[in-house]
Amino acid sequence: MDSLPELVRLFGKKLGGQLGKLGLETTADLLHHYPRRYVQRGELTPLDHGEEGDYITYIARLKEKEQRRVKNNTLTLTKLVFTDGATDITCAFFSKSSFRVNKVVRELQIGDTAMITGRIKYRWLRRGGFERELIHPQVMELPDPIDPKVDPEGAAAQAAQPLTVYPIIQGLHTDAVANAVKTVLGPMQPEEIPDPVPEHVRKENGLMPLFDAFWQIHFPRTMRAAEQAAETLRFHEAFVLQSALAQRRMWADSFEAAPRPYQEAGLRDALDARLPYSLTAGQRDVGAEIEADLTKDRGMQRLLQGDVGSGKTVVALRAMLQVIDAGGQAALLAPTEVLATQHLRSIQNLLGELSGEVGLTLLTGSLPAAARRQALLDAASGKAGIVVGTHALLSDDVQFAELGLVVVDEQHRFGVDQRDALRGRAKKVPHYLVMTATPIPRSVALTLFGDIDTSILSEMPAGRAEVVTHLVPESNPEWMQRVWERIAEEARAGGRVYVVCPRIEADDDGEGDLEDAAQEGEEVTSVHGLAKRIEQDGLLEGVEFGIMHGRLSTEEKDEAMARFMDGSAPVLISTTVIEVGVDVPDATAMVIMDGHMFGISQLHQLRGRIGRGTRPGVCLVVTSTTSEYSIERLKAFAGTRDGFELAEMDLKLRREGDVLGRAQSGRATSLRLLRVMEDGEIIERARNAAWAILQEDPDLVRHPALAAAVERVAEQEEFLNRA
Ligand code: ADP
Ligand code: MG
Repeated sequence: MDSLPELVRLFGKKLGGQLGKLGLETTADLLHHYPRRYVQRGELTPLDHGEEGDYITYIARLKEKEQRRVKNNTLTLTKLVFTDGATDITCAFFSKSSFRVNKVVRELQIGDTAMITGRIKYRWLRRGGFERELIHPQVMELPDPIDPKVDPEGAAAQAAQPLTVYPIIQGLHTDAVANAVKTVLGPMQPEEIPDPVPEHVRKENGLMPLFDAFWQIHFPRTMRAAEQAAETLRFHEAFVLQSALAQRRMWADSFEAAPRPYQEAGLRDALDARLPYSLTAGQRDVGAEIEADLTKDRGMQRLLQGDVGSGKTVVALRAMLQVIDAGGQAALLAPTEVLATQHLRSIQNLLGELSGEVGLTLLTGSLPAAARRQALLDAASGKAGIVVGTHALLSDDVQFAELGLVVVDEQHRFGVDQRDALRGRAKKVPHYLVMTATPIPRSVALTLFGDIDTSILSEMPAGRAEVVTHLVPESNPEWMQRVWERIAEEARAGGRVYVVCPRIEADDDGEGDLEDAAQEGEEVTSVHGLAKRIEQDGLLEGVEFGIMHGRLSTEEKDEAMARFMDGSAPVLISTTVIEVGVDVPDATAMVIMDGHMFGISQLHQLRGRIGRGTRPGVCLVVTSTTSEYSIERLKAFAGTRDGFELAEMDLKLRREGDVLGRAQSGRATSLRLLRVMEDGEIIERARNAAWAILQEDPDLVRHPALAAAVERVAEQEEFLNRA
């Protein structure tokens, strides 16, 4: 019996089981299951929404009622037509006789308002379009209005009280949920619902006590009270989450790290002296923050956000050299082998003759055995100052003599747990720097990475070339011909051109996540398919090209990359493997085939591969889409190169539930009302309050209600449980 969910014990198998289907198992779950909407008495819900198959609740007025015998006179069909004033919806009931039909249905009069709950069915019309129908919905009369002449106060209270509508599923109606909540909440005393938010914080932020908030969100006296309750609960969500993050940070800070203070006249100074440019103000500021972090005896945990091309590499390299100067080693992790190799090259270029002294080592999964053994040896002996690799670096057989710093490039390609995996590799914890080129709006960063420090490189190095972006409709043969001419011209003029395709072969799923599945019958451009077409149709007028995708061997990839760089094959037909970090300064043009199949941030990453030198670039996005949403997105993309602007737009276009998932970490399941994009201000306030409390009471011994709430959230939030 005890192993049964609390709500099953309380309400029995049927109701308890249905609540379970909504993911509700405990009374606390039930109290946190809020109405989906409120309807003011006298108001009707719009009837023109809801998809086929959805379970939904409408409040509507009865417009027509008709009863007739059907099926050879064996059944009675009762047809009710409801309206919201503009749209109608038909409800059908079958019964043995006109008396056997449900009493409410039988007695409902034209002009009465009722709550109807059921499953939507589309009925397609011969003249086009469809009507929504509900078969055997549940119909409830709204309580009779209190006569103001008899009870003026009661009538006013009733008029102000909104009706609540809960999200429902088959067989579980909104009133059943409301009744269950009332059963749980009704007998409770305020002290049985301890408030995790301390009183002074509540006062400062104008919040209700939690007990009142639960009452007013489920059974609001007025619309305003429901809003205030939602505001309070929104703050609660942010506050508890921020408390959990603060606690996690304090836990991380309880481990010791070896301080790696800056050493004068070391390798870092030597690099600064030989840089061909001066650092931007942003690079200097972030550099100072990192320098200070590395000087402490607690592990640095910093996220460096910088748009594509903002110059993160040199910032990371300076940090690595500071650590080496202070007797440590650094590991640099890239998401793919192509990128690891690329990083090794660009670091080699930056270091020049310093490379030998630093000790640069590549360690990837596909190294030949002998080279791999040597690399492992160099890491273990300390001969290698910087080890560059993929996540193979995380495998247990890689030993470091004195690992002082881990730099992870492009965090969004890494799983959540890997942030922690490298901790505990050294006797003391290493310092930790994550770099991401996917800008995350501050409120999202605070929610996802609230336990780590963030730095932003907002300024671009001077002299970055212009890149113009054009959309090209695939259906226009003249424009398409011009695209190919343009590629050939660019290549002949000494430029490099990427041509990006969503797929490797015509019939596979492509690499990475694509935005849209292809429509039925839509032909999606593949690397191999396009390569064949170019040869057959002579599209590039004899200009050499190479191909690149994730299924090539390391040698094939290296060769294609080398021929691209030295100009012997100046056009590269590729998948999104080139999306991240690849740095070819001569690349001036990019053609993205089937652009609508990529997400905004992916397009932005791709475009970031060109215009890295001083020559202006051009990005051509070829698309056959007719979807308004896709065209909107592509136009937005063509309109700006500001990564933060694009990231925000992208997140706003997505459903909230996707924001945290897409933004590369565990999905936040404890957030019910909080909208990460819109509630930034609440998140800031909650964060300040939470950190102040944790500072004074790190184990929350004086805040037991908060401690319990934090534990509850940590159980739900995968990304809090990495510890
Ligand atoms: P990302 O942040 O995308 O990793 P990179 O570190 O690859 O950017 O830098 C992009 C380009 O900008 C590189 O070619 C690099 O040499 C150049 N760069 C970096 N910092 C500066 C600077 N301060 N001034 C001029 N060019 C710079
Ligand atoms: Mg980079």
